Amino acid sequence: MSLSPSSIHLLGGRLSIDFVNAAPPNAELSWDRLIGFLESTNIVSPERGAQLLILPQSDPQASDALLLKARKLGWMLRKVFASMLRRQKLAWEWIEPINEILRITEGHDELVPQGGDWKIEFIAREGGLDWLLAAVARSGAEIIAEGARARLRLCANPHCGLFFYDNSRTRQRRWCSMAVCGNRSKVAAFARKHTSARSAT
Ligand SMILES: [Zn+2]
Repeated sequence: MSLSPSSIHLLGGRLSIDFVNAAPPNAELSWDRLIGFLESTNIVSPERGAQLLILPQSDPQASDALLLKARKLGWMLRKVFASMLRRQKLAWEWIEPINEILRITEGHDELVPQGGDWKIEFIAREGGLDWLLAAVARSGAEIIAEGARARLRLCANPHCGLFFYDNSRTRQRRWCSMAVCGNRSKVAAFARKHTSARSAT
């Protein structure tokens, strides 16, 4: 494996948010990263992931088409999430690519065994590759449908840029990760308090 799944931050709390976070705004989603994401979120098994990793060599047309769709989905979801945070109206052209994936990935849910437990897996009717993006598109659609009720947030660290869904009971989560951005901010606040008597957090 050329890519360790640990390099993908799964802290968004919702699949579509993690997907947007996996491709930072200043970098294009690569094939390896897309497959790494699908693997680390258990959309594909490690075996299927390994097969997909070499698809650009065996079927570049198929992999190009999927990568293009994945990038487009990521861009649109990013625009949607950013607009939702600003309470702005969503443009139809951002929604349409999400609908496009929802439309072509007809299928059904099925219980499948996983390490002694059961999980619900989406079984696509079509055999194509588009189904790989179906769960992401559905997750994005759910957040969009929640509208103003969606607890979508942007990490309070201005240098971070990661989105997350606030599942906390108090609904006051401010950081993508307490361990990373939260602690960094605490350290900074601590330093400020010790240099200025009237520091605000
Ligand atoms: Zn952060």
